[in-house]
Amino acid sequence: QRSCVWLRRDLRILDNPALYHACDASEAVVALYVVPAEQWQQYHKSPIQADLIRRTLVHLRSELAQLNVPLVVLQAGSFAEQRALVQQCIGQWRIDALFASREYEVDEVARDNALQHDIEGNLDLHWFDDRCIIKPNSVLNGSAQPYKVFTPFSKAWLKELHSVGWQCLGRPQQMPKLITDIDDSTLPLCSLEADSWPYAGADSSAYAADGQEVIAQLRQFSAERAARYRADRDFPAIDGTSVLSPYLAIGSLSARQCLARLSHDHGSPWELAEGAKTWLTELIWREFYQHVMVAWPHVCKDKAFKPDYEAIPWTNDGQLFDSWCRGETGFPLVDAAMRQLNQTGWMHNRLRMIVASFLCKDLLIDWRWGERYFMSKLVDGDFAANNGGWQWAASTGTDAAPYFRIFNPETQSKRFDDKGLFIQQYVEQLRGLEAKLLHQAGAGGNYLPAVVDHKERRQMCLELYQQSLKKE
Ligand code: FAD
Repeated sequence: QRSCVWLRRDLRILDNPALYHACDASEAVVALYVVPAEQWQQYHKSPIQADLIRRTLVHLRSELAQLNVPLVVLQAGSFAEQRALVQQCIGQWRIDALFASREYEVDEVARDNALQHDIEGNLDLHWFDDRCIIKPNSVLNGSAQPYKVFTPFSKAWLKELHSVGWQCLGRPQQMPKLITDIDDSTLPLCSLEADSWPYAGADSSAYAADGQEVIAQLRQFSAERAARYRADRDFPAIDGTSVLSPYLAIGSLSARQCLARLSHDHGSPWELAEGAKTWLTELIWREFYQHVMVAWPHVCKDKAFKPDYEAIPWTNDGQLFDSWCRGETGFPLVDAAMRQLNQTGWMHNRLRMIVASFLCKDLLIDWRWGERYFMSKLVDGDFAANNGGWQWAASTGTDAAPYFRIFNPETQSKRFDDKGLFIQQYVEQLRGLEAKLLHQAGAGGNYLPAVVDHKERRQMCLELYQQSLKKE
């Protein structure tokens, strides 16, 4: 049997079910990756994540070569073209079986269904659920319905894990024969050189592209920081979280690998001590938002999870939005956070919550504007997590908390960056200023004037939500 592994968001050798089973079942295996450049553009994929994918493919190509699996990288525009290319390769290379891991977003599902419809019967198709530890639609409440609220989901998830277990597959066990007759001369080959890569690029070299380095980072976090995670995770000036999100987003690391490592170092998932347990809870949040997206696919179509909240008449002031994007709102912690995003492609979770709340509830700007801006900058951009986070911040999502819970940027700053260390790292102008002033809007006259008055905007926000929800 000649098989093709269509790699998508599973860019790794270890614990890759599609690759593992293709190697196990086939005489010869070829791996394929197709860059859908226009589709990425449409989804606002960040240049830094695209660059991380490119660099990861370079490493993956040499790792796959050691398994006798050549990696062909092609370039397409839309998903329809991507699908057509996969079909062309299957025919041209006389492939008997296709192996791939599912993606759960609406357009991706439609693409895969169309492919399945076209090729079913002509060859064996093997789909795998790789993005979550427990696959969507399998954590259900007593009425066999998906959960809308995180805490009961999380309990049910742990129970389900107990009954179904989980397994990390490791490296493929079988080494296929090398395919030597792959004809790619008529195909739109994609260069993995930075200057000829078909998508805008931004330097991602601060993030690991080598699978072994990614595993080393996981091991280091689990051994050295997971135990303190609960205590440290909310303080952006502390290196308290794992920063593994870029790898989980592109699949150079799997959530199963994270769980396996955690449990190797700290014990069974049901008996973890507080620090490690809190980290597992974050992985469950990641699963929750993917399960929500599968159960309520309207969230993929630019819609609020709670339909009533579509009525909010956001004021959408372009100038205020620009000041937020640039990190020039005059609110020191908000600005430091946005500058962290713009400069590094990553932002601490506490800060994501603060800047998202600020955009929606202080600037009264549609959460979808923020969602898009985040996608265009984040190295870890992931539709489900990002959409879930934004809808949480705008109170339009699954969260049980009421909309009138509005973050006060000054209080958040005092609580989570009390010495102003994080602020001063990213806002040079404020270095040397006493901490007490750093938390204030406009830093007590030592900084850009605040673009809005928090108290006033809080009131406006409450009225906006109240009135629009009453009308429904
Ligand atoms: P850790 O604290 O070490 O957590 C481990 C892993 O758990 C993370 O790598 C991530 O995969 C997952 N995780 C942690 N918190 C969450 C969460 N709240 N929701 C879903 N998964 C979580 N995360 C993304 O991966 N991609 C995004 O595009 C994204 N956008 C966000 C937008 C907003 C407005 C908010 C509030 C949160 C967003 N998050 C997103 C979730 C979270 O902020 C990041 O996952 C986290 O900051 C990544 O850092 P870390 O790897 O050090 O996380």
